[in-house]
Formats: sequence, structure tokens, C-alpha cells
Amino acid sequence: MSRDLVFHIQRFSIHDGPGIRTTVFLKGCAMECFWCHNPEGRHPYQELQYFATRCIACGECVRVCPTHAHVLTDGVHTFLRDLCTTHGACVDVCCSGALEMNGRIMSVDEVMFEVLQDKPFYENSGGGVTLSGGEPGLNVRFSREILQRCKDAGVATAVETCGYCSKEALNSLLPVTDLFMMDLKLITPERHDAATGNTNERILDNARMLASTGKPLIFRTPVVPTVNDAVEEFSGIVAFIRELIALRSVAGNTAPITYELLAFHKLGSDKYVSLGMDYRASHLEPPTKEQMHSLLTIARTAGVDARIR
Ligand code: SF4
Ligand code: SF4
Repeated sequence: MSRDLVFHIQRFSIHDGPGIRTTVFLKGCAMECFWCHNPEGRHPYQELQYFATRCIACGECVRVCPTHAHVLTDGVHTFLRDLCTTHGACVDVCCSGALEMNGRIMSVDEVMFEVLQDKPFYENSGGGVTLSGGEPGLNVRFSREILQRCKDAGVATAVETCGYCSKEALNSLLPVTDLFMMDLKLITPERHDAATGNTNERILDNARMLASTGKPLIFRTPVVPTVNDAVEEFSGIVAFIRELIALRSVAGNTAPITYELLAFHKLGSDKYVSLGMDYRASHLEPPTKEQMHSLLTIARTAGVDARIR
């Protein structure tokens, strides 16, 4: 049985697929989207989060840390991240919640114990379990085992993927996944590279592969001002989705392909600070309702079943 890093298990999730769901967030992603809403899912290793605003300068962490990663000078606390070996002793003694260990190694059994607690809610709401991240396609053996166990337990499954993983990985998840939700962030390779650290050929290829299967598919675009909200760029994404819808219907495949627009937000900005990461989207403002609706109109006018989530 495999074990891997999970950074969050969200119960009663209603935004990660149909019905009431439990979303399991796996740690590790090969993309570096500069606006990422879940920076704590990026690195494939445990890391300490330090929320300075919660610190009461009690000094307990200084007392227990064997590598002196915590320093208290004249009542001011400093966290020396490079000295931290993430074994977590400080988290256990910090009573203010200023310290949290991001990422825990869990076995498939441990994940299943948590997700099966809400099985009655899944059954009554058409819900189930969603794997998200990070990128589930990177932790593919762990992902497949969890999804298989869910299927064995009669629980519907969904996978949220950024598409930046091997085609083989996504292929291996097909038999145990009822619904795929895949990001399409940009269509222009150079713009995609500049915004995410990777070009999009592999992602578009994986999108074509998923579209050729009989699986329900929801494409999602996080609408980020100055990144992908220009009519030309956005229309390019919509045209690509139209192409896949046409391919699917030519193949006589009736499984739905739908589209969701998600408005960029800055709610996760303090997570970057707590992780010692640079937040490069602080200068951006969320798109307005009008901007979102004008993009929605572009998608719907093109014949795509789209909505704002
Ligand atoms: S234990 Fe927590 S509250 Fe106390 S000094 Fe350390 S970080 Fe601050
Ligand atoms: S996790 Fe361990 S090494 Fe890291 S700061 Fe806390 S006590 Fe020190």
C-alpha cells in the first residue's frame, strides 16, 4: 500500500465536482503559476508554515528547536527556514497557531478512513471524492489506489488536474475516475510558459486524450487579469474546447464536455508569506463581474456549455 504527501483533506466541498464531496489535496506540482491559489501544494516535500501575525513571542519554539531555526531577539521572532529540518517539534509547542506543518505522509488506509466518513452525504447528494493538489497525476500510484478503493466502496470519483503530467499517468487513472476537471490556463505557448513556468503542448495533448475518452470532462480557466482575459487569448482557449467537443461528437461520444470560469482572487496571499515564497500576483485585482460575464458570453456564443463558478 502506498503512502504519500497530503496537504489538506476538505470535507463538505461543493466546488470540486457534483454534490457534496471530500477533496483530498495531494502535495507536489510541476507548474509554477504565479497567481496559484494553493501555493502550499506546490513543493513535493513537507514545509513549515510560519504565520508571523499569530506569533505571541513566547519563545517555546526557540527552546525545542534542535537546529536553532527559531530566534527571539528583544521580543521579535525570526524563523530561519534554511535551518529547519521539518520534524515538527516546534509545531507541537506553539500554542498560538503561528506554526503549522504543511504536508503529512498518509497511507491509502488513512485517507480512506477520512473520506468514507461522509459516504451517506455522497449517496444523498450525488457527490463523492475528488483528488486535487498539487497535481494528482504526479502521485499516480497513490492516486490510483485511493480512487480504486473509492470505487470498491461504491463512491464516485473525480480528479482535478492541471494536465501537466505524463499521458500514461492520466491514462492509468481513467478506469477509476468518473469525472475529470482539467485546467486550461492559456492557449499561446509563450504566454503559458511566462505565466506558469511551462509551455502547454503536453497539457493540450492530455486534453485531447481525455476528450477522446468517454469520460465527463469539465475544463476550467482561472481568469487572471493581464494573463488570459484578453479577448484574443481567451477566444483561443474557447476555440480549442470547441474543437474537442466537435471531435467527441464525431466519434459518437455523448459524454459531456463543459467549461467553468473561475475568477482570480488573492485570498491565498498570506500563505505565500507563511511559506517564505514570493507572491508575484499582489499587483493584480480580481476580474469584475462584468469582465467575467463578457468572457462567459464569448464561450456561450461559441456554443460551449459554460458557467462562472
Ligand atoms: S512558539 Fe509560536 S507563538 Fe511562541 S514564539 Fe514560537 S512561533 Fe511564536
Ligand atoms: S520543524 Fe523542527 S527543525 Fe524546523 S523549526 Fe520546527 S523544531 Fe526547528
